[in-house]
Amino acid sequence: MTAPTFLDSAIRLEQQTIALRRDLHQHPELGFQEHRTARIVVDNLTMLGLEVTSGIAETGVAAVIEGGKPGPVVLLRFDMDALPIVEQTGAAYASQNPGVMHACGHDGHVAVGLAVARLLAERRAELPGVYKLIFQPAEEGQGGAARMIEAGILENPKPDYALALHIWNDRPFGWAGISDGPMMAAAEIFEIELTGKGGHGALPHTAVDPIVCAAQIINALQTIVSRSANPLETAVVSVTEIKAGDTYNVIPGRLFMQGTIRSIDAGIRDLILRRFEEIVRHTAAAGGCRVELKFISISPAVVNHPQVAETVRAAARSVLPDLTIEREFRTMGAEDMALVNALVPGCYFMVGSANDEKGLNFGHHHPRFDFDERVLVNGAALMCAAAVELAASDPLRKAG
Ligand SMILES: [Zn+2]
Ligand SMILES: [Zn+2]
Repeated sequence: MTAPTFLDSAIRLEQQTIALRRDLHQHPELGFQEHRTARIVVDNLTMLGLEVTSGIAETGVAAVIEGGKPGPVVLLRFDMDALPIVEQTGAAYASQNPGVMHACGHDGHVAVGLAVARLLAERRAELPGVYKLIFQPAEEGQGGAARMIEAGILENPKPDYALALHIWNDRPFGWAGISDGPMMAAAEIFEIELTGKGGHGALPHTAVDPIVCAAQIINALQTIVSRSANPLETAVVSVTEIKAGDTYNVIPGRLFMQGTIRSIDAGIRDLILRRFEEIVRHTAAAGGCRVELKFISISPAVVNHPQVAETVRAAARSVLPDLTIEREFRTMGAEDMALVNALVPGCYFMVGSANDEKGLNFGHHHPRFDFDERVLVNGAALMCAAAVELAASDPLRKAG
């Protein structure tokens, strides 16, 4: 009899992984408030006989699994937070926490992470290397990864490789995106405050109208992507919120708007920010408005190390031979794992989870988001196989 593969073992745990995911789905918690989730993580890891550190950056949890053979340290990261969304899936396991929903699949990530912990811990005697599992709070734009790095998760032991996955509902179950190089965007928030001079709606000549000024700024901003950036590069500039005025006959004195900038290439990012500032400042001046402009960086681009990505693909082909692997996959979504991958060579990969026939195909952050739970098995098997393959082959020879 041959030894069970990580797929066989993940299938053995499937019912319990699904039950855990549904329990987490019913009890979603926002970033830095994942107390119940963290307690479940700690309990599960402790039951495996692992030494567990909790309370990292509020609610983060870490555990180390030492293999019986020497090898590099592989960090495996799973995010835990939910979103401020009113769930509309109608699922039996829908959120019981009103206004909070696991609409990105991080409930699945925690369930996968605990299955991975168990599968690696069971076999630790025969495994090469060291596996550092990190359960991260507040991935959804709140800086959880930065806080965990500040708290020292990249030390003691210092990881040689870093892996993370995302359940991905924009692709069907049976697909995986394991790309070389940049695969998720750098993201910034911009905030613009225009100050004109309020006045009567019928006497515009006595006022300085920030609404007309903002309209011109918004139009001019469209030329950054269409005229300034190289058409072969990727960039997004989206104004997503405008606030000004209260009624029909008053020109307001002030206007606030914000939105997001996404880019892959660092040079394009610098170009966008420079053009953005020029357009905003000069158009505001032309409109007679004072302007305050602020950029807030959320995260750099997620960049996969090609050799690490190739190792993950090799592991995927061996543990899940039927998987369709896309190696050119990219999305303009952002992800704070980028901060870890900027310091530790790694691979961030997507595991397809949509099922059109079952209606499980709403996008991430949609109130009806839900996924094909078979992805939990694929995710756990792939993560285990990738981590062990990395430790065994040590493609960058960091440990030696
Ligand atoms: Zn999300
Ligand atoms: Zn997410």
